[in-house]
Amino acid sequence: MLKEFVDVLIIGAGPSGCVSAAYLCKNNCKIKVVEKTKFPRIVVGESLIPRVMDHFAEAELFDSLNAMNFEKKLGARFIRGNEICVFDFSNKFSEGWDWTWQVPRADFDNTMAQELIRKGIDLEFESEVVEVSFQGSDSITIVKDINGNLKEIHAKFIIDSSGYGRVLPRLLDLDKPSALDPHSSIFTHVKDINRPDGEEGTLISFDVLETEVWLWVIPFSNGNTSLGVVGPTDFINSLSENKNNSEALKNAIQLSDYYIKRFQGTEFLFEPIKLENYSRSVKKMYGDGFALTGNSTEFLDPVFSSGVAFATESGMLAAKLYLKQSQGISVDWEVEFTEYMKRGINVFTTYVKEWYTGNLQTLFFHQPENPDVKRKICAVLAGYVWDEENPFVKKHDNVIKNMAYLLNMESKKKENPSAN
Ligand code: FAD
Repeated sequence: MLKEFVDVLIIGAGPSGCVSAAYLCKNNCKIKVVEKTKFPRIVVGESLIPRVMDHFAEAELFDSLNAMNFEKKLGARFIRGNEICVFDFSNKFSEGWDWTWQVPRADFDNTMAQELIRKGIDLEFESEVVEVSFQGSDSITIVKDINGNLKEIHAKFIIDSSGYGRVLPRLLDLDKPSALDPHSSIFTHVKDINRPDGEEGTLISFDVLETEVWLWVIPFSNGNTSLGVVGPTDFINSLSENKNNSEALKNAIQLSDYYIKRFQGTEFLFEPIKLENYSRSVKKMYGDGFALTGNSTEFLDPVFSSGVAFATESGMLAAKLYLKQSQGISVDWEVEFTEYMKRGINVFTTYVKEWYTGNLQTLFFHQPENPDVKRKICAVLAGYVWDEENPFVKKHDNVIKNMAYLLNMESKKKENPSAN
């Protein structure tokens, strides 16, 4: 069998794998990326948050992405009936980027992959990892190409960025049920023929249809728009009696007072894709000779668009820690990798949970707005979830619950002033 020898094998060429690869290449590491599919390929995860820009800049992927003129995302709009809450990233509490992009991932991921190839990185498409064995931290990975040919890749370290492929979690029995309730989604792209002129046409929006059910609208600069419905799995399954994804998504659009006119009858560009019970977790994020990054570790929920940001954060961090270790400096992976990532993941876990209890929606839609609270929540939504100066990061465990409780009490008092 053909044998190849590298320092680091990266499994998967999504955002996580590409950021790792670009950073390691910049630091003269001998790497190989294997990607199961042929790009461009459709994948969900189209609304980014500003924190990712730090990673694309540091990995030197920014310029190639910027040249694509993807739609700029300057904030996010949440809609509930006739209530509207708009976050503007330039008004956020923490330092950092105040814009990002909303992207068709097929083009976005392909741009990064082509940039890796341009940098001279050995990236092999249509090559699937089928087996991995470890001898201490050294590994031998068996990769199968499209013609069924097998080869061995000998690596000192593996970064598993295989997303829902979850290569090492499957092979090493690391999967763990998510702590979040089972939610599912159906999405597609449409030619946005009724797109209004100006900001309204390009604004990314999350339309609350019921407390736990929402529709995403992500306009792209190519004139298409991504539409997706998210909710408890039972609800998503009930949208179409005969489990037809097209019918289910059309029925969901009917529930949106805000968007029904713009998207009613619009042709879907591909058969809507259903992602059932999408949340994932793992027992551990690293081991001797490997680290898990992006969706092959933890995926929470799409509501705050944090998936790609965690993918690039963990991809970048795994690359840096490997480099440190390869220079003979000791790395405490538990503290420097897992605990660091968990701090950010825990903040977003609270926000996701409190979104679905309705508490966060109480804060978002409360009038009059509290600009100080908004700035602090905005920093979280921008992905700056390691800034402990922000009380909405540091005290995430109870700040939302407590504020929502007080606001609900206040509303009740207003409705019934004579009650105690
Ligand atoms: P991926 O982008 O999935 O890339 C993994 C790659 O690994 C793939 O290309 C795959 O082909 C390859 N691979 C798999 N198995 C193998 C194998 N055996 N051998 C070789 N290669 C392999 N995130 C956001 O930031 N914004 C959003 O708006 C958003 N919306 C979402 C909506 C839904 C309904 C869901 C479920 C998720 C959403 N996400 C969103 C999350 C986002 O999709 C992921 O977090 C992100 O794509 C993870 O990037 P990644 O690089 O880890 O994995």
